[in-house]
Amino acid sequence: MSLSVRATGRLEELDQERRREIVDRARRDTDVRVEARVREILARVRDGGDAALLEITREIDGVLPASIEVERREIDRALAALEPSVRAGLERAKQNLERVCRAMLPPVTEVESEPGVLIGRRADPLAAVGVYAPGGRAAYPSSVLMGAVPARVAGVPRVVVCSPPGPSGLPSDVVLAAAGIAGASSVLALGGAQAIAALAFGTASTPRVDRIVGPGNAYVAEAKRQVAGVVPIDAPAGPSEILILADDSADPEHLAREMLAQAEHDPEASCVALVASEAIADALTAAIARAKPEKREVVERALGTRGAVLSFDDWEAALALASDYAAEHLLLAVRDPEALLPRIRHAGTVFYGPGASVAFGDYMTGANHVLPTAGAARSFSGLSILDFVRWTTYQRVTGEGAARMSADVDRLARAEGLPSHADAARAFASATPVEHRRSPPSARPSYRHMKLYASQRRPVALDLSDNTNVLGAPPSARARAASATSDDLARYPSHYGERLKAALASRLGVGAEEIVTGCGSDDVLDSAIRAFAGPGDRLAFPTPTFAMLPFFASMNGLVAQAVPLLGPERGFDLDVEALLANEPAIVYVCSPNNPTGTLASKAAIGAVVERARGLVVLDEAYIEYGGDGFTKRAREAGNVLVVRTLSKAYGLAGARVGYAIGHPDLVAEVEKSRGPYKITRLAEAVAEQVVRQDGAWVDAGIRDVVEARGRFEAWLAERGASFVPSAANFVLVRVGDAAERAARLRERGVAVRPFPALPGFGDCLRISVAPWPTMQTALDPIAEVLG
Ligand code: PMP
Repeated sequence: MSLSVRATGRLEELDQERRREIVDRARRDTDVRVEARVREILARVRDGGDAALLEITREIDGVLPASIEVERREIDRALAALEPSVRAGLERAKQNLERVCRAMLPPVTEVESEPGVLIGRRADPLAAVGVYAPGGRAAYPSSVLMGAVPARVAGVPRVVVCSPPGPSGLPSDVVLAAAGIAGASSVLALGGAQAIAALAFGTASTPRVDRIVGPGNAYVAEAKRQVAGVVPIDAPAGPSEILILADDSADPEHLAREMLAQAEHDPEASCVALVASEAIADALTAAIARAKPEKREVVERALGTRGAVLSFDDWEAALALASDYAAEHLLLAVRDPEALLPRIRHAGTVFYGPGASVAFGDYMTGANHVLPTAGAARSFSGLSILDFVRWTTYQRVTGEGAARMSADVDRLARAEGLPSHADAARAFASATPVEHRRSPPSARPSYRHMKLYASQRRPVALDLSDNTNVLGAPPSARARAASATSDDLARYPSHYGERLKAALASRLGVGAEEIVTGCGSDDVLDSAIRAFAGPGDRLAFPTPTFAMLPFFASMNGLVAQAVPLLGPERGFDLDVEALLANEPAIVYVCSPNNPTGTLASKAAIGAVVERARGLVVLDEAYIEYGGDGFTKRAREAGNVLVVRTLSKAYGLAGARVGYAIGHPDLVAEVEKSRGPYKITRLAEAVAEQVVRQDGAWVDAGIRDVVEARGRFEAWLAERGASFVPSAANFVLVRVGDAAERAARLRERGVAVRPFPALPGFGDCLRISVAPWPTMQTALDPIAEVLG
């Protein structure tokens, strides 16, 4: 007997009853016995706690778990036993899910409803979530990921997986392994309605959760329904289903495979194809008839009771049926799916494109496969990160905003008979010292927590606080600035510092098209970040590092992710794994690093560059003083911008000139993100002069500083001071009371930069190194404050 579907023919000729039968494919009334049994189990767990849980588990599952919570070593054992290729597949699925969830994390929204009245809304993760996973043959590790991973990405600290114990007293190994991969905080050996009861009410050993998700049998579904008033649950999910909308461009074999794949899930699965071509519809029916599915019995029952292949001419009628049907999975196998997509009203998820198959969505695309079925897609959405957050709104009212609202609120409150409300509002009636026509608009939410950068810049005899060149500016720079022309000031500069690029290119031996210049390397860093990442994206950076970095990230709406440097035994090298975890859009590395003066190892930088998904920004502001530089390898790699500055070795911090070297395409994007004219005409002229003519002066200054650094470090060592050996033009010295010591040193005419409580280093002073004769003049005051 060949396979056949229940309904064939033309959609336009379908009578109302048949149409209703197709749309109402899964109307089932709750089984009253299940309802009553579940009610009893819920009550027993609510009243009897852990003892009741164990008793019910013994009655239903026939085992007595040693403990309700599965021990961590069992999860590790299951993970180790998992077939490596299956594990790799699950890891990949998890990564894709994470990527999608992160992108869909809702941003903070703020709006001014009227001047002085700001309303904000912020998504906060739930505190605890329960993920139910069926056991036995219905144990799908992919479903565990679909529940637990979005919860994790949302920031839910407690993700509890519940799954029924098998004969060993433990949930199945695949569920344990998947829970381990998904990063669940604990796994409970509980199944059925009793698991839902434990999650909803909590017991001595199980936490009460704030949402329960995940598929289960009839008892689980009914228990979720009954506790839904106490704890929110996910959308009702029943047998799988697909609705296909196809035209004459569709491949009937492809459509048949998709229907068979849905049908093998469940004898009650529903598979409907609406085809705008009789020939393709017939070919599809024939392809189904020829098919020899492994799970023949299941497929035959599904297609025979809820399968339909209908041809049509009237697209409106087909779309109306698709909308009423509200399929869990909707497949568009048409010539121009993007034109049709906006017309799809109700569907759990829509697949289209030449490679569209529900199978990819079930496992790997990164979309969630927990979707509403049986027409629930009319009002429910598929599981997503939004199920694991709740909203907090906040309201900021200025004195003026309050004054403006007070009269109306006074009247409304009196009208509602609430005189104390009226008094509360009226108290603000005259709180308007200055009447601005409009209150200032709010800046980006992320700016609220940022402080304006300000460092102490009072004059001092010897400034060793900012790593600039203590020798001053090269002579030719001063001469060029002194002979500024009228055009230098009256005319626009070159667009992107082309003359300077040419000068740098010939000094560095790279192409001018590989160089981007900016107003200090600060500007280059900021525009590179903006060009390659947007609000909500992650930027990973080692800490401690250049203090402005997290600011640049926040200024551009990025999420800055600080990763501590490895410890002294690892030479303060980069923690490559942690930098790359969560696949940041940008990884920033500074080498030699400010303020530690340490170099990142070539191996670590190489690994970051090799494995990063996005841009790697390598800040070599201090490279002239130590380290090999990464330019050659960066040019080969193509995903690296090496950022440099003329503020240090070149003595031009006041002129504000920085640059970066990278692939010409990277350079072009950075220039786009910032626009032209960022280097003043005079600064460009001065910088060009220095780069072309003062190489010898610059190199001599570098040699002097490197020599002085060696002597200064030896001097520190002799005195027993604790410092970090440096590859830059400064040395980081560990001291107690850094701020107080820096203040005392300033009184003695030497400015250094205090770093109180530097992560991993404690209180420190960062002391810039001057050529030795100058440095020597600072030694006595430094000795005094170091004590
Ligand atoms: N990167 C690092 C590591 C720095 O320390 C500094 C300044 N101290 C900069 C970039 C910015 O330098 P500029 O903007 O002067 O080029």
